[in-house]
Amino acid sequence: MTGIPEVSPEVAKFVSSERGMLIDGKWQPAQDGRSFATYDPATAQRLASVARGGAADIDLAVEAAERAMRSVAWRRMTPAKRQKLLWNLADLLEQHAEEFAELEVRNQGQPIWLARDLNVQGSVESLRYYAGWATKIEGTTATLSVPDERPLGEFGPAFHGYGVRQPVGVVGLITPWNMPLLMAAQKLAPALAAGCTVVLKPAEETPLSALRLGELVCEAGFPPGVVNIVPGLGHEAGAALVAHPKVRKISFTGSTEVGKKIVEASANDLKRVSLELGGKSPVIVFDDADLDRAAETTAFSIFVNAGQMCFAGSRLLVQRTVLDELSSRVVDAAREWTVGHGLLESTRLGPLISEKQRARVLDYVEGGVVEGAEVLVGGRAVDREGFYFEPTVCVASDPSVRIAREEIFGPVLVLTPFDTVEEALEIANGTSYGLAATVWTKDVSRAHRVAAELDAGFVWVNTNLSFDDTLPFGGFKQSGLGRESGFEGIAQFLEWKSVVLGL
Ligand code: NAP
Ligand code: MG
Repeated sequence: MTGIPEVSPEVAKFVSSERGMLIDGKWQPAQDGRSFATYDPATAQRLASVARGGAADIDLAVEAAERAMRSVAWRRMTPAKRQKLLWNLADLLEQHAEEFAELEVRNQGQPIWLARDLNVQGSVESLRYYAGWATKIEGTTATLSVPDERPLGEFGPAFHGYGVRQPVGVVGLITPWNMPLLMAAQKLAPALAAGCTVVLKPAEETPLSALRLGELVCEAGFPPGVVNIVPGLGHEAGAALVAHPKVRKISFTGSTEVGKKIVEASANDLKRVSLELGGKSPVIVFDDADLDRAAETTAFSIFVNAGQMCFAGSRLLVQRTVLDELSSRVVDAAREWTVGHGLLESTRLGPLISEKQRARVLDYVEGGVVEGAEVLVGGRAVDREGFYFEPTVCVASDPSVRIAREEIFGPVLVLTPFDTVEEALEIANGTSYGLAATVWTKDVSRAHRVAAELDAGFVWVNTNLSFDDTLPFGGFKQSGLGRESGFEGIAQFLEWKSVVLGL
């Protein structure tokens, strides 16, 4: 294609050679020699060939992780040293930031600015944030009320009661394709800070950035077997990891549908499971809001990464008195989202991940029109090579239609009018999801009252998508189980143990 910048020679080389899996500190092909192809979303052309992990590879990886978990090198490593290794990894990633950004554009299609600012920089920050937690894992001591049977006159307490947190053990990390490096880093960082060992299974569409990160993990000085990376398919490598009896916990980010399968498959041995799943997050705009900012910010929330964001503000609930004013602003904002190849600095909206995903988005829009929704702008696949879809804004007066209820995971915003606060809340809480929500109003009391009533794990008021590693995020209802980020994020990789000493 003409006019598209070249990637650096390192990225070109990494992509063009056969990629293996990382097991016990060594790069190797699949046991059965199989591999699978990945595709460049910007061109629909074959991109890379990657080892296809199966049950035998998962078994080797889990055994390596189990050995590392029991090894003196890892078990006896001080928290300060774990902190240092995570910090080393963050430094290495930062040194290779531009290379990773380019690799992620080829891997996933996203615009280069997004790859730099959110994906790669966010990964560096997450690694540093959890590096700090490694030395701050604390327990507690307790004064017990257990009867003291000693003769009167003996001094001091009869018991010493305390609680400690210990690593869960070998954990399986399973990630989606929408923000590949960040999803992997946000799981690896707390798991390693907690002292666990891991087997990571990246999404089949986008394994490349996780595999390159694996090379840096080795360089950073982690002992062999602490981090194992097995690329492959969900129903093969993913299912084998979830089924493995030596895996103590699964941390999964992906669709609600697969999340439910993982819960079922974990019932057998009661694995710990944490799930970051889908969403259909509402943005509620009251008539006193700053409509310019609300429109611009909502457009960002739904069009960033072509709408392939779990917390995308995909439903815009608008007080009817400002419906026309807000919808014209949102349509104008949508037109600013220049569609193009991710390596062009001018691109705001890159391709969707696959033809399958694009067909799914189109199906939602067409189905919405059949159910009475009106398309204000966009609504079609872009006529060029690659999996591009136009930034789209629709109006659906009936909030129960599919397009207004189900997660689309594409650049499609659905506007629905409301009249009263009660009605806004009923619509906002009226889906099976509960990941995030946004409120726009200048009335502080109303902002707090509405925030309190929303079924959502993360609420923004007069802003959107501001995240911070200190703030846990995750879902109510079918948007997930558990939280990532903050102390909650590392607590998921720790077990509590209470100890009582008779003195
Ligand atoms: P997905 O199809 O559920 O896949 C996620 C991961 O699970 C992939 O690695 C997949 O492998 C694997 N997998 C599939 N079936 C499996 C099975 N039976 N056992 C074990 N693993 C299995 O999700 P996706 O399409 O990649 O990602 C999009 C979804 O992720 C959206 O619903 C989005 O909302 C959600 N998401 C949530 C968050 C959050 O933080 N809440 C963040 C990002 C994305 P394959 O690649 O082979 O399918
Ligand atoms: Mg999938």
